[in-house]
Amino acid sequence: MAEINNFIKTIMENDLANGKVDKILTRFPPEPNAYLHIGHARALVTNFELAKLFGGKTNLRFDDTNPETEDASFVEAIKEDIAWLGYKPANVFFGSDYFDKTIDYAILLIKKGLAYVCDLSPEEIAEYRGSLTTPGKESPYRNRSVEENLELFENMRKGMYREGEKTLRAKIDMASPNMNMRDPVLFRIIYTPHHRQGTKYCVYPMYDLAHPLQDAIEGITHSLCSLEYENHRPLYDWVIEKCETEHKPQQIEFGRLNLTNTILSKRYLKELVGSGKVKGYDDPRMPTLAGLRRRGVTPEAIKEFILETGLSKTNSTVDAEMLDHAIREDLKLKVKRIMAVKDPLKIVITNYPENKVEYLNAINNNENEQLGSRKIAFSKYLYIERDDFAIKKPNKHYKRLALGLEVRLFHAYFIKANDVKYDENGNIVEVYCTYDERTLSGTGFNERKPNGTIGFVEATTAKKARFNLFEPLILDEKADASNFMERLNPNSWIIFDGVVEGQEFKKGDRFQFIRDGYYIVENDENLEFNRIVSLKSSYK
Ligand code: ATP
Ligand code: MG
Repeated sequence: MAEINNFIKTIMENDLANGKVDKILTRFPPEPNAYLHIGHARALVTNFELAKLFGGKTNLRFDDTNPETEDASFVEAIKEDIAWLGYKPANVFFGSDYFDKTIDYAILLIKKGLAYVCDLSPEEIAEYRGSLTTPGKESPYRNRSVEENLELFENMRKGMYREGEKTLRAKIDMASPNMNMRDPVLFRIIYTPHHRQGTKYCVYPMYDLAHPLQDAIEGITHSLCSLEYENHRPLYDWVIEKCETEHKPQQIEFGRLNLTNTILSKRYLKELVGSGKVKGYDDPRMPTLAGLRRRGVTPEAIKEFILETGLSKTNSTVDAEMLDHAIREDLKLKVKRIMAVKDPLKIVITNYPENKVEYLNAINNNENEQLGSRKIAFSKYLYIERDDFAIKKPNKHYKRLALGLEVRLFHAYFIKANDVKYDENGNIVEVYCTYDERTLSGTGFNERKPNGTIGFVEATTAKKARFNLFEPLILDEKADASNFMERLNPNSWIIFDGVVEGQEFKKGDRFQFIRDGYYIVENDENLEFNRIVSLKSSYK
């Protein structure tokens, strides 16, 4: 595995060396409102690998402060994805379990004159906030007494007001150049039941209050988050300072990962699933971890990809080809290379005896002998890819079968095409060939050079199979989510019905289909394969 090396590692090294911290404790804080995607994998891998590097630990903390969008099913899905990636959190915590403590801290802020109950509506709060070029206006409720604020906050918690009627706000600076510091809302009223807390609470803390406090309560040393939180850091530090927490965590931001031809945002994923354009969060075309898993991608490939693409202080868009490359590299030596034919064309070897099937030796992976060898069938009746045959050689680069040409069949003999049979519609249905017995693979025959090597599957022992091939969901390279419904690729899922070598297949087994790509068994009853990735880049 590639080594983890980035600016956060350097920060941790220094913090340990100069005694600022004596151990590393990180956390991964997903909001349980959708499935994790490959972008989250950057945060996940970074948190877990960095902590591991220094003998530290990582908590999984569900950031469940918004009951309106969150759901317990997402909690389970996220846990499953993390386990699949091979990470074991030191603890699994829920932000909502800290609500009582968070309320205590809010009361402390009120007592210190640093928080007040405000009656402005959400629209008015936005209006009073001002803009980047104009300072905000102070709320008329800003100078309520501590006693009044304590009572009103108590009443908020008792459920005496409607949603939006009152908020608890920090009293910081309405003229701050940082909009986040202009008296940000700390608590709001929500009556939607919470997936974990039920109706226990009707006030919910905002992320900017809840997150630093959760980090402090857990003793997180380095709170890593993506770049959009950079200008929230002054507020993070304000909360830690003013709440006088015993432990002082620090927030460090890193650049988000984007992929070409891929949109990574929960809103987009939700909309795709909701629209029925994909078959759920684990649709093999989805950039979710569940989707990638379903497509057959290994956790090792994902980790390697994340580590190889590194980490910087700016957002980056990585070529989706890099992910494919990591997948190929991971599977290259791990899986058997077998033969499948997606769009079969029948071959009849006219000089081969009827009713005979011979079994030829086939090495499973010529780059990894440890995977051993197997026997493959050969007879008078074979299938090859329709694409591997042409009536006439179209150009000098064509290295496949054509009338009058001879090719080598993988692990088998040279065959030469002599004639074809058409159906009533003019489609080729059979190709008549002759084989040369002396040319068996491994015998060192070198009197003639064939016009390339192609795959085949013996017809009488072949197993029928369906092949699912996937193309990017988004046609263009742009990684942003603008009008994505119009940018969807109408041909992102392509189905072939063909044949595969007659052998045992178990759901989840992975193979390379020679000259095609890597596949996983999706269904072993009605045999079906998902293409994980093609052997060659399919991006233009
Ligand atoms: P999205 O922006 O995709 O809707 P989010 O950031 O709201 O997702 P969270 O559940 O809050 O999703 O994310 C959990 C963690 O993963 C956060 O620390 C967040 O910064 C990080 N993260 C999310 N997307 C990416 C990404 N594309 N690259 C790097 N880190 C990410
Ligand atoms: Mg978020």
